[in-house]
Amino acid sequence: MRLFDLTGRVAVVTGGNGGIGLGMARGLAAAGATIVVAGRNREKNAAAIAELKKLDSTALAVEVDVTDQRSCGEMVAAAVERFGRLDILINNAGTNIRKQPEEYTLEEWHTVLETNLTSAFTCSRAAYPEMCKSGGGKIINIGSMFSIFGGAFAVPYASSKGGIVQLTKGLAVAWAKDNIQVNAILPGWIDTELTRRAREQVQGLHDDVLRRTPAGRWGVIEDMAGAAVFLAGRGSDFVTGTAIPVDGGFAAMG
Ligand code: NDP
Repeated sequence: MRLFDLTGRVAVVTGGNGGIGLGMARGLAAAGATIVVAGRNREKNAAAIAELKKLDSTALAVEVDVTDQRSCGEMVAAAVERFGRLDILINNAGTNIRKQPEEYTLEEWHTVLETNLTSAFTCSRAAYPEMCKSGGGKIINIGSMFSIFGGAFAVPYASSKGGIVQLTKGLAVAWAKDNIQVNAILPGWIDTELTRRAREQVQGLHDDVLRRTPAGRWGVIEDMAGAAVFLAGRGSDFVTGTAIPVDGGFAAMG
């Protein structure tokens, strides 16, 4: 059995048009999967597809807003219509609004929760019947170090990412009977657009991360590929409901 070969598998990656999502999409493509990149920004989608095609991957872009239930349903329908099946869903799309907790509007709270947490529930439910038809599937939810730790400037974000871990466990238990494994990846500090903004907004963050990360560096999007390929392939068929940090040792540091 080829444990890390994804040939013939169809994967949808929300937010696959940049950052961590693109890093994971590249990894899945290199392992043989067909990729559906799902993001809002048409230009970023097109650039990601061009990049994946250079890896000889079959890839399709779908414009989706993951906060919109109908859009999530259409995303899954587009993948199945084009490729005939759905095997892997990576719930990666995410956002953050950084403020002190007392300064958020309720609308800002909902924006972060809906983009990061509710969307994973919605997309997973849209994917479920298709995965059942394929005889099983793999759902990978993207958490964060804020799934574990608190952050004064990231209360809605940490709430959403804590929720991702519990969503992962619940779906894993519910859908084990359908041969669907549901796991989370908890990235440490990875250099992306999201964290470039964070470094502008949070003084000292760049050096704090270097100091606090045993590996002594920021992660790069390529660091995310290995865990994604493992959790998307047969090698993880008896792994479900878990959350794997990919963090250069950040979570292990006392
Ligand atoms: P980016 O800002 O680079 O990527 C975010 C992605 O999410 C984009 O592709 C964006 O696509 C997509 N997205 C955002 N909102 C929506 C929406 N409503 N509908 C569809 N797509 C949407 O950030 P990262 O790559 O850093 O983040 C990816 C994930 O990793 C997030 O869940 C984040 O919380 C998580 N994470 C990141 C860490 C890091 O250090 N970078 C650490 C821990 C977790 P578009 O622009 O087209 O809308």
